[in-house]
Amino acid sequence: MSPFNLETCARPNILTLEPYRCARDDYKDDGKNILLDGNENAFGPPITASSSLLAGAGAGSGSGPGFDLLGLHRYPDPHQVDLKQLLCNLRTTHAHTAKTLTPDNLFVGVGSDEAIDALLRCFCVPGQDRILVCPPTYGMYSVSAQVNDVGLVKVPLLPAPTFALDTDAVCAALSSEPHIKMAYLCSPGNPTGSLLAKADIERVLSHPTWNGIAVLDEAYIDFAPPSASLAEWVTEWPNLVVLQTLSKGFGMAGVRLGTAFAAAPVARLLNNIKAPYNIPTPTAALARYAFSPEGLAVVASNIAAITAQRERLLVELPRIPGVGRLRGGTSSNFVLYEMLDAQGSPDNATALAVYERLAENRGVVVRFRGKEHGCFGCLRITVGTEAEVTRFLEALGETLAEVRGGNVGEGNDEEEREAQANAVVA
Ligand SMILES: *Cc1c(COP(=O)(O)O)cnc(C)c1O
Repeated sequence: MSPFNLETCARPNILTLEPYRCARDDYKDDGKNILLDGNENAFGPPITASSSLLAGAGAGSGSGPGFDLLGLHRYPDPHQVDLKQLLCNLRTTHAHTAKTLTPDNLFVGVGSDEAIDALLRCFCVPGQDRILVCPPTYGMYSVSAQVNDVGLVKVPLLPAPTFALDTDAVCAALSSEPHIKMAYLCSPGNPTGSLLAKADIERVLSHPTWNGIAVLDEAYIDFAPPSASLAEWVTEWPNLVVLQTLSKGFGMAGVRLGTAFAAAPVARLLNNIKAPYNIPTPTAALARYAFSPEGLAVVASNIAAITAQRERLLVELPRIPGVGRLRGGTSSNFVLYEMLDAQGSPDNATALAVYERLAENRGVVVRFRGKEHGCFGCLRITVGTEAEVTRFLEALGETLAEVRGGNVGEGNDEEEREAQANAVVA
């Protein structure tokens, strides 16, 4: 069993933090009280129910999320218990435990990016503590760590195509490297598309000497097989946090809603440090709508369409001359493929030239990942609609033929293009 101890693992100043109390903690907006406590504007927003911006979203119209436009002058609910309950209903599958998630197991934030940062601020003392990451992985873990003056310990994933956790190396690092407070693990991985093995995660969670938290980022879990999510496992493991988001499977990246499932004491710490009104009322209303039976049905059919296009890419990409091996897994809404030079070897110059020409000449933007650990010569391609995939496949075939026919560099400064290609995180 893990020696995890919240009292010695979390930052002392966070453990003793008195959370901000807001006006509505004592007296809720029940529609009857006259609310003269929050310095809000009782006249409401300069938007009417007939504003074209919000057509279909008006209260009681029955055709949309139906949040109350006239309520926008009030601060949002700081606790979001209704929304959290819907998330619990969705993620309690009893596939991994007989226990049931409750709203006490949840933190909701402005995207999972807020949770990634909040965890760092809860557990890592700046200039002292570190996090463990497993490249190739999502860029925000290291960006957020750096912002918080938290160091990195890198233990690469095992080589493609499995991109499995190197559990022996991870456990050895957790034994020997001092001050590691969290391990950020991504499953399905970005940019790998590989699900991590439950047994490997269990080995990290049950490390015999490590007093720290395993953070499992499940941003792409809705594209993985059913019951793959380990969210409900937080009811079994006090040192597990599972991150999810509405940005991918639910198609709501603009809404900015992310969730952290955790044992209640850890979830409480995250909720204590957050800004009180971090979730906008429209965001909460749109998310609640997404979790309604109508919303979930649309999500399921969109995911089925994306899965079908993913299967199509797996069939059609290998037929294009110059496309190399699939690297990584297929549990996500993207695929990672090698681009080959004229001699048939994976090649970063080719991949970069294809990346650049696709964007500049064809209006098709993919992601160059060739500089990431174990992804040499690779492009990461998000699965789009049927029409988008058709256009991409056509453009890729023609672009690869041009590039492999000669003059890949065309006088451009390659270093500069690589720097640009790596500048963006997501
Ligand atoms: C896209 C992505 C996220 C999503 O972040 P949000 O802030 O919720 O939009 C989180 N983790 C990974 C690995 C991602 O690829």
